[in-house]
Amino acid sequence: MAKKTVRDVDLRNKRVLVRVDFNVPLKDGKITDDTRITAALPTLTYVLDQKGAKLILMSHLGRPKKPDTENSLAPVAVRLSELLGRKVTLAPDCVGPAAEAVVNAMKPGDVVLLENVRFHPEEEKNDPGFARQLASLGDVYVNDAFGTAHRAHASTEGVAKILPGVAGFLMEKEIKFLGGVFENPARPFVAIIGGAKVSTKIAVLESLLPRVTTMIIGGGMSFTFNKTLGHSIGKSMVEADFLDTAKIFLEKAKKAGVEILLPVDHLVADAFVETAKAELVDSVDVPEGKMALDIGPKTVSLFRERILKAKTVLWNGPMGVFEFPAFAKGTQDIARAVADCKGTTVVGGGDSVAAVNQFGLASKITHVSTGGGASLELLEGKQLPGVVALQDR
Ligand code: AMP
Repeated sequence: MAKKTVRDVDLRNKRVLVRVDFNVPLKDGKITDDTRITAALPTLTYVLDQKGAKLILMSHLGRPKKPDTENSLAPVAVRLSELLGRKVTLAPDCVGPAAEAVVNAMKPGDVVLLENVRFHPEEEKNDPGFARQLASLGDVYVNDAFGTAHRAHASTEGVAKILPGVAGFLMEKEIKFLGGVFENPARPFVAIIGGAKVSTKIAVLESLLPRVTTMIIGGGMSFTFNKTLGHSIGKSMVEADFLDTAKIFLEKAKKAGVEILLPVDHLVADAFVETAKAELVDSVDVPEGKMALDIGPKTVSLFRERILKAKTVLWNGPMGVFEFPAFAKGTQDIARAVADCKGTTVVGGGDSVAAVNQFGLASKITHVSTGGGASLELLEGKQLPGVVALQDR
């Protein structure tokens, strides 16, 4: 990686200020998924292994505009303490005298979690004064919050302008795998892009087109493509404003010699409701009055065959409305195919990550990204401000 990491700096006897992404889902004050906490552990234990280092953590949680108990990091401090097997002190604030007092009282090997940075509106405004206050609590800045690296906030970007910043291991891994698909991926390289809309995925499709061997397009967005090819799509999801975009994209792919695969059969319903009965349509064309909510078995076989032959697979976006049990099979079968592929497999983006977790296949994938918006922006070929701000090697 072009950026320095925790391995490149001396952390001994330092106050190490680490931005983590502990924005975990909570229900009734309980953490329902601690993946984001466990994902940060390699960096945190590495810091704690450095003699005399003090670990100061900062994160956001939810979207509060002012302090509230609902978005307190208190449950995270408890879970982190269990995972690290040592005491984690929650500072009542992330800046000001209360935070300073807790940090000043730290001994080597101590861990402090600063309270939610978004309790201060200055965080999202990337206020330089607020960034300076945060920076004053550390001697070295580490950013391991990949999930928020696409935001230029005080704790993700502003601090790095004051304290020399390096990447943590999670950040390094995310950039290696998601960014790595742009640097010499082993071929055949198959990208599977699904999800609801062409409009939100067109930038990803465009940025991947010059790199891939095969592009598989599934989910709601595939009907805009099938329609522009002259197929009937019934009541399926379509973006009328993007028919031309889809057509131009298919022409570009043809010129570039990239194979595009679209659904050839479907599971359809009469209406977009969870209880709808799934009906198989053994044709590319969707009958009048029906909406396609999942890919059919022929499509699964076609996609699976390409996926298994790939040396690199990148997957973003579900193949159908996998939230409805009757329409989850296509996405599950594709998740299974990605898991069965012997090549390097990368899953990036919120819903496909939720799908591989839901189907218990995450451990069979080379890299499952922890970032939603951040992975999408990286795949669009954009620079992430939280990464740009770190020191070059
Ligand atoms: P995205 O956030 O763009 O990756 O889109 C994910 C959403 O697309 C999920 O909530 C899916 O339910 C939805 N989706 C996938 N396939 C379809 C489809 N055939 N019709 C309607 N929505 C779909």
